[in-house]
Amino acid sequence: MEKIKMLTPLVEMDGDEMTRILWKWIKEILIEPYVDLKTEYYDLGLENRDKTNDKVTVDSANATLKYGVAVKCATITPNNQRMTEYNLKEMWKSPNGTIRAILDGTVFRAPILVNGITPYIPTWKNPIVIARHAYGDVYKAVDGFTKGGKAELVFTDENGQEVRKIVHDFNGEGVVMAMHNTDKSIASFARSCFNYALSVNLPLWFSTKDTISKIYDGRFKKIFADIYENEYKEKFEKAGIEYMYTLIDDVVARIIRSNGGIVWACKNYDGDVMSDMLATAYGSLAMMTSVLVSPTGVYEYEAAHGTVTRHYYKYLKGEPTSTNSVATIFAWTGALKKRGELDNLPDLIAFAERLEKATLSTIENGYMTGDLAAIFKKDGITPVKLGSKEFLQKIAENL
Ligand code: NAP
Ligand code: MG
Repeated sequence: MEKIKMLTPLVEMDGDEMTRILWKWIKEILIEPYVDLKTEYYDLGLENRDKTNDKVTVDSANATLKYGVAVKCATITPNNQRMTEYNLKEMWKSPNGTIRAILDGTVFRAPILVNGITPYIPTWKNPIVIARHAYGDVYKAVDGFTKGGKAELVFTDENGQEVRKIVHDFNGEGVVMAMHNTDKSIASFARSCFNYALSVNLPLWFSTKDTISKIYDGRFKKIFADIYENEYKEKFEKAGIEYMYTLIDDVVARIIRSNGGIVWACKNYDGDVMSDMLATAYGSLAMMTSVLVSPTGVYEYEAAHGTVTRHYYKYLKGEPTSTNSVATIFAWTGALKKRGELDNLPDLIAFAERLEKATLSTIENGYMTGDLAAIFKKDGITPVKLGSKEFLQKIAENL
């Protein structure tokens, strides 16, 4: 069989631990036999990040800006324990943080639904996509601890004029924090969300807490409203989808009662928390896809979970593992489909769609990894738990 040709390389960002092992197998077993795979390879494994003083992460993000589509393996964000384990020169920053800052994007997370894995909320028949703003707020905050004293917020404008506000006059120990965001980043977030909702033809709900945070969250609300009114209202009406702004408490209540099929735009912290809640409620963290979309239309696909350290240590000891590769496979198919769309390669798109179908039907036929076998329920089928590699081989058979 002739392999499917590609025109432009994908930016390939390799990663760490168990997901690095899956990464290699996915390529060998599911992609390379069928696609003449073109990638520009960046090794974001922690050892190479350390060796290159993290330059490789910056280079991979810049390559993504150049080519437009990247696929990323999960990576370790170093902490104290990793400093010793990998004998690191420095506690390098989260690669995802670095990449998001360069692409200035919004992260969209969507669950992969399969017949046999029922969401904990039985009415959720369709995916709920979380759109998470990926810049600022508590992730770029300045905070401190005090044993007592007055905390003030001092703002110095361009002319050197100072405005002071008392945060709190401490009468004992306490904590303070100051955070920021920029109109530019909020506007990019808004446009990414409106574009994404239109591309998947789903309504967009945006939530903050502007009744409490009147100026800060109020700014988000206003920027979204202005951009909607001026740039997207007509397009939404034409597509027959709605844009709604409401309080986050209200969305939480509405989401639980919904049938799914919504894009839910969240501020940075809300999106971090709510996406884990949704992933779990849909069945498994390993069934959540993630794509970073920049306001200029650059895409980076990944799985939402981490490097699955616990399984990796077992793998190193030669013990059997049953690690779910579905979200990582879907990161590859997402990237291949997008590359196919941009380069007008219908065969590449069709291949990616078939690989997704083969993956889902393998599970629906009863063959899956341990995390899913534990929750799978379908009449007449007793789930078979497969090892990490056997699961990929079973998909290949099906494909
Ligand atoms: P994790 O790798 O997501 O794993 C946490 C647990 O969730 C696993 O021990 C496993 O549970 C289950 N799990 C997650 N993915 C699974 C999969 N594909 N198949 C089966 N089970 C899965 O999170 P973590 O252990 O907190 O973090 C490990 C490393 O990943 C850290 O160094 C962190 O910095 C990094 N991380 C990277 C990213 C990213 O690159 N996007 C995201 C998050 C974390 P059981 O052990 O019970 O089987
Ligand atoms: Mg989280």
